[in-house]
Amino acid sequence: MVYIAGIPDPLLARTMIADRIKNVKDSGTMKMKEIAGQKKAEGKKIISFTVGEPDFDTPKHIVEAAKKALDEGKTRYLDAPGLPALREAIAKRSKDGSGIPCDASNVLVTPTKQAIFETIMATVNPGEEVIMPDPAWVTYEPCVALAGGKAVPATTREESEFRLLPETVAELITPKTKMILINSPSNPCGSVATKADIKGLADLAKDHDLVVLSDEVYENIMFDGLKHYSIAAEPGMFDRTITVNGFSKTYAMTGWRLGWLVAPKPLFKAVNKVQQHSITHATTFAQYGGLAALTGPQDCVKEMVKEFSERRDLVMRLMKEIPQLHCDKPKGAFYVFPRYESKMDSEAMALYLMDKAEVALTGGASFGGAGAQHLRISYATNKKNIEEGMTRLKKAFEGM
Ligand code: GLU
Repeated sequence: MVYIAGIPDPLLARTMIADRIKNVKDSGTMKMKEIAGQKKAEGKKIISFTVGEPDFDTPKHIVEAAKKALDEGKTRYLDAPGLPALREAIAKRSKDGSGIPCDASNVLVTPTKQAIFETIMATVNPGEEVIMPDPAWVTYEPCVALAGGKAVPATTREESEFRLLPETVAELITPKTKMILINSPSNPCGSVATKADIKGLADLAKDHDLVVLSDEVYENIMFDGLKHYSIAAEPGMFDRTITVNGFSKTYAMTGWRLGWLVAPKPLFKAVNKVQQHSITHATTFAQYGGLAALTGPQDCVKEMVKEFSERRDLVMRLMKEIPQLHCDKPKGAFYVFPRYESKMDSEAMALYLMDKAEVALTGGASFGGAGAQHLRISYATNKKNIEEGMTRLKKAFEGM
């Protein structure tokens, strides 16, 4: 707020803000996290199912590697794309693990969210359209809006496990379509793309000459022996795909702000310009932690995924006891996205549950129109909290 002679001047404040930001909403996930934090500070015993943040500590060998880097004075600038050894390690993992035909020169180290922002800024022109799933993570649409583009929601449905179906996308392609944005496993639905989905989407991108942005940050958090498919590994797709991934979810490194993207050379060069002119590069000593994460033992990942799988089963079992909530078992990530029975809109419902049950979660409409009448529960919290939170939700729904 601007003050003129001590009086707030909303009009002046409004003229100071750029048009491009005026229609951008606050992040629904971060907003509910903040409200939950305020309530906790007031002494309320809130159980938080809001933000998608693993509650595990970052594995010790990763922390030690970053500490060692600090002790050794690794506190100076790097080149914008990142630490060469880390770029090598990411390329190796992308190639050997996901079949993406890349080398270190295709890898840019940057926080995952920044990777998405940079990709969209570097590729989408004003007026161009980006087809993305609906519901989808809260940040995709604002990134497209900030680039002056138009997000085109492709509705995903419960009956097809909230998967982004090629036939849905095909109907939305116009001469203005620039990009298809995919996210498997998905936030907020926990859906996992099949090989046929990926192939169908790849065919559409090739037929219509589109760029693909594939957010694979939940790649390692999949259950029931399912396999992850990277669209950049499909024949002819590497040259038109930017694959985004990160350390936050797989290695419980949310606060490190570290991830990466893999892009073909011309796109890499464009994205690197945004990186050079925004954050320069990701934090130097954090990158040494990332290197230890990728090159060190992976048992910690297996243990965390096993725990997530048990938590998913626990949430699903407890949800069956709440007749007002309906949801099929998600196959990946750490969210359930149940439909609820009530006339209340999803934000009002989330606030009601915060107040009545002291359970914080995110209203489904934050993730797009198709998320109305849904709630997102992040089960990246311990089993005791899940049991207590689900019991409170049951009571709150009974009392409605
Ligand atoms: N991606 C996580 C979530 O959806 C983290 C919060 C955020 O950055 O939006 O909860």
